[in-house]
Amino acid sequence: MRPENQKRRVALLVRQLLQALGEDITREGLHKTPQRVAESLLFLTGGVNQNPRRVINGAVFRSHANNMIIVRNIEVYSLCEHHLLPFYGRCHVGYIASKKVLGVSKIARLVDCFARRLQIQERLTAQLADEIRRAVNAEGVGVVMECRHLCMMMRGVEKQNSIMTTSSVLGSFHDDARTRAEFMNLIQNGENVG
Ligand code: ZN
Repeated sequence: MRPENQKRRVALLVRQLLQALGEDITREGLHKTPQRVAESLLFLTGGVNQNPRRVINGAVFRSHANNMIIVRNIEVYSLCEHHLLPFYGRCHVGYIASKKVLGVSKIARLVDCFARRLQIQERLTAQLADEIRRAVNAEGVGVVMECRHLCMMMRGVEKQNSIMTTSSVLGSFHDDARTRAEFMNLIQNGENVG
């Protein structure tokens, strides 16, 4: 579907949704709400139209060292596919390169690519780990994600302070307990700069 047609169709459905919720859609505050919600939803789910390989777009560099590379505290904003409500938090990524490394901004872009979809946190975590491993043929990858889910905080069990943690460890991060421990230690005890 062409983007303009898609936006129009979603806006129409949001209008119907507001009516079904018992809203008076003629009141001023709701005048442009269908269009705004349509734009917002299409942005927040736009990752499905992105190819993660295109997102990386060649930002893979040669490296001689095979140290562990860690990126901490990457912001995550996604939508839970069960309630269409946001979950958000941060994730930490580590990998051991074998000859290739990923441009650091690309990891953040990959997070957005997979997060801007209807998701569950477990799958988001696994997809990110898989894609990083594939992109640089990493010897091992670890992803830990900590998120708050509005579907738990605003409704349901109404647990405002619970944080869900998911992890995905591949390759040496999975097979070697010391490598995994080093990763966990680095993401927990890394210094906060700035
Ligand atoms: Zn949910």
